[in-house]
Amino acid sequence: MGRVSDWANSRIIQDQIDRYLRPDGTDFIDEALIEKCLEEQKAPSADYIRQIILKSRELETLLPEETAALLNVTDPELIAEMEKAALEIKLKVYDNRIVTFAPLYLSSKCINGCTYCSFREGNEDSVRRVLTMEEIDREIKTLAGQIGHKRLICVYGEHPDSDANYIADTVKAIYNAKYTTRKGYGQIRRVNINAAPMSIEDLHMLNEIGIGTYQVFQETYHHKTYDEVHPKGTVKGDYRWRLYAMHRAMDAGVQDVGIGALFGLTEWKFEVMSLLLHSRELEDRFGVGPHTISFPRLEPADNAPGLEDTKDFHLTDDEFKHAVLCIRLSVPYTGMILTARENAELRDKIISLGITQTDASTRIGLGAYAETEQGDDQEAKRQQFIVGDTRSLDEVVQMLAKKGFITSFCTAGYRCGRTGQKILDALKSGHEGKFCKLNAIITYREWLDDFASPETIALAEPIIRREIQEVKDTNPKMFDALMKYYGKTEQGERDLYF
Ligand code: SAM
Ligand code: SF4
Repeated sequence: MGRVSDWANSRIIQDQIDRYLRPDGTDFIDEALIEKCLEEQKAPSADYIRQIILKSRELETLLPEETAALLNVTDPELIAEMEKAALEIKLKVYDNRIVTFAPLYLSSKCINGCTYCSFREGNEDSVRRVLTMEEIDREIKTLAGQIGHKRLICVYGEHPDSDANYIADTVKAIYNAKYTTRKGYGQIRRVNINAAPMSIEDLHMLNEIGIGTYQVFQETYHHKTYDEVHPKGTVKGDYRWRLYAMHRAMDAGVQDVGIGALFGLTEWKFEVMSLLLHSRELEDRFGVGPHTISFPRLEPADNAPGLEDTKDFHLTDDEFKHAVLCIRLSVPYTGMILTARENAELRDKIISLGITQTDASTRIGLGAYAETEQGDDQEAKRQQFIVGDTRSLDEVVQMLAKKGFITSFCTAGYRCGRTGQKILDALKSGHEGKFCKLNAIITYREWLDDFASPETIALAEPIIRREIQEVKDTNPKMFDALMKYYGKTEQGERDLYF
């Protein structure tokens, strides 16, 4: 136990918190301001809401009082206008593309005691594992060689057995794995990570090996609630070490950071306000906001006593939808991730509220892609919570096609330096959209040829033809180059991008 507690005691570097505090020693989650805005904007006028919608359409980040006003809208007519604007903003910034990914859980050992999570230390029922390199290879064989994923979010518990060196080794191993497919080969091309807050030094090392987005969810931004669900004396019990994780990441050179709140621990409007304050803080300090915002909702978890204590704050589906809508309008540039914690029916509805990324064929048991059949009764003990949507990637691509979305497997932005500020500038100028469309078409072709079922191919062909026609009409200079790459991809060449 000495090794583990020594490691835990060395995690937090106080100076890497204090340097970011405000001059009066407070942090940027100003609870009094949040409460004041929500109170003052209790009954916003329709005119004011329409003005705010116009501002969102201009792709401007909202002010706290504006987000508070949107959160308090109850009039169905105004909500319908907000929904319409949310989709329009998404189409303006990200076009009709949706990016898919899979979560890959690599370690369930954890030194923390989050009361809502099955991996918490002290849960004797949890079957603990840290995947070996051979086991990881088997997972990638299924994910990249059989399902066809190109992007992962790798998830790690906080433990010396899955420290920054382990994360680095696993990311490198994942990038190196390649598997033959129907017409070419499959490979993971972007590895995002969701891991505990780290020091600037560890983050710098991970940035050097080429991680994609670095994600840390604050869980709850409400100081008192945070302390209640994260036991004192644990590393995670330090609210500010977590709150400034993204500041450290940006100072370490990580361009794309992902923030999030675990909805259901406290009042949901408070969390949306806080996500806005977090985004504004990053914009003010680093000139660029978060690359993505996630809004996981608390799900049942095996042996997690905190779920009972927080049940008053569980959101209804309508409240959850409203939260998503307000995030879209408040931070118009940001990518938004909808996870498979939600069931298929709700996901299909929410996807049109401005979502940019979603997971598919999700399995969160350790080793579950390669090892278990669904329904294995041991699976609950091997996973962190229960997944709501277990549809395959093929089924999700079909659903998106039916809604007119093209699934993009593009990972080019990150590999050719279109990240962080650069991507935001490109998005604002409409430049990114043009490259992204070309890459979406090529990677869609690649995935269809390598992995899709005949039904999915039948639904996807009209979409791909429509997209090609659009390039011909709106971006004729690039049309020949597109068709050249498209033809090569049909011949089995892989990983071509602009
Ligand atoms: N251990 C790291 C950490 O806590 O930052 C890695 C991430 S943890 C394995 C992934 C995320 O799952 C957490 O940040 C939390 O938001 C979410 N999570 C934990 N318990 C959950 C539950 N019962 N339902 C839904 N999401 C949950
Ligand atoms: Fe550990 Fe993360 Fe689960 Fe908390 S949420 S117990 S830190 S794995």
